[in-house]
Order: sequence, then C-alpha cells, then structure tokens
Amino acid sequence: MFIALHITGELIAAAVVGGLITLFLERLLTKGKAGLACPSCNEDLPQHRRPKNLRQVFLGGWTCSACGAELDRRGRLRS
Ligand SMILES: [Zn+2]
Repeated sequence: MFIALHITGELIAAAVVGGLITLFLERLLTKGKAGLACPSCNEDLPQHRRPKNLRQVFLGGWTCSACGAELDRRGRLRS
C-alpha cells in the first residue's frame, strides 16, 4: 500500500515535471516565432498589433504598452 502510494506520487511528480517542461519549451518556441520584445523595457510585443497612428498603419511597428516606446516593424526603437 505504501509502496503503491509512493510510486503513484512519483508518477504524478514526473507528469507535473514533464508538463512544466513542455510548457516551458512551448513558451520558448512561441517566443522564437514572435521573436520581438521591447528593446527598451523587454516587454513582449503582442503578435497582433493594433496600429496607434497612421505611420503604424502603413509602415508597421508598435507602441510598447508597458513603456510607450515607439518601435519599427522589426522591433527596433525609432529614433
Ligand atoms: Zn517597452
């Protein structure tokens, strides 16, 4: 009985760890796909951007929701 409980506990632990690793890898892969974070504050940029002005409509780019930095379509700071 105790041994069975112990094994079940290990299985659950293994499942939890496996799940966490999977989540972590998915996060990494998703990040690799999006690949963009604010160079100013390192906030992840949303994949679906909402243009905030005409320049962003035509040229692309983001306004960082965290720090308000203006970024071009490649995620670089606009000077
Ligand atoms: Zn930012």
